[in-house]
Amino acid sequence: MVESCQADSRLLGYAGCDSVAAMRLGRIASPDGVAFVSIEGDGNAATAREIAEHPFGTPTFTGRSWPLADTRLLAPILASKVICIGKNYAAHAQEMGSEAPENPVIFIKPNTSIIGPQVPILRPKSSDRVDYEGELAVVIGQPCRDVKAAAAKGVILGYTIGNDVTARDQQAADGQWTRGKGHDTFCPLGPWIETELDPADLEIRTELNGEVKQRSRTSLMLHDIGEIVEWISAVMTLLPGDVILTGTPEGIGPMAAGDTVSVTIEGLGTLTNPVADRR
Ligand code: MG
Repeated sequence: MVESCQADSRLLGYAGCDSVAAMRLGRIASPDGVAFVSIEGDGNAATAREIAEHPFGTPTFTGRSWPLADTRLLAPILASKVICIGKNYAAHAQEMGSEAPENPVIFIKPNTSIIGPQVPILRPKSSDRVDYEGELAVVIGQPCRDVKAAAAKGVILGYTIGNDVTARDQQAADGQWTRGKGHDTFCPLGPWIETELDPADLEIRTELNGEVKQRSRTSLMLHDIGEIVEWISAVMTLLPGDVILTGTPEGIGPMAAGDTVSVTIEGLGTLTNPVADRR
């Protein structure tokens, strides 16, 4: 598999399966334009170093950098697709009135639903109930297909935070989830990608207007990340930048215009978005 990944990677001009040092990768709007960056340092001292072209393989740097505070964080990756796992925590399956599935249940959000931190989630006029779903997001690092669970780590660029925003009434009414999950702005991602993070047992927490609504641990996933990558990549080719949302824990609920929703994952930070009604 590694050999075929390297062949595919060369084909597409990527540096391939080389392992890289731990990085915090972001995408920013700077005074000079949009760029992928490596974010170095913390707080007010953080610097965004511009990456040439893309962050896959072994990134090269242009030499330009900006204080992170002078930039705006965008969704950290451009995905060709977002693949989501439904009901991957038993307590969430239970609150939805269903059994925990034996195999992963997958669905797709269109890449046009992706937004970055601080961008408003827009509630469509066609829905009376738009919910948050805080989730750990996996970002794929190279073209791959038929990846075994034990080899999944090798095709993962890193991890970020996602919010699988859902028009719950449309999800229920349609019998499948494309409309309920697919509205523009329904896939906030960010604030950045951590390339070296052990995702096995991280606290995941969703707050609505500062009130904790979801609090769980990634160790409670029914299907772990290796199993998920194996299951999905047996169906479809995954491309660099593709995002897998790994399912939400219990505590889902609705958002209203004027609310602020934040998803925090241990070791990753916080993804915050305001909520508004689409005009
Ligand atoms: Mg979900």
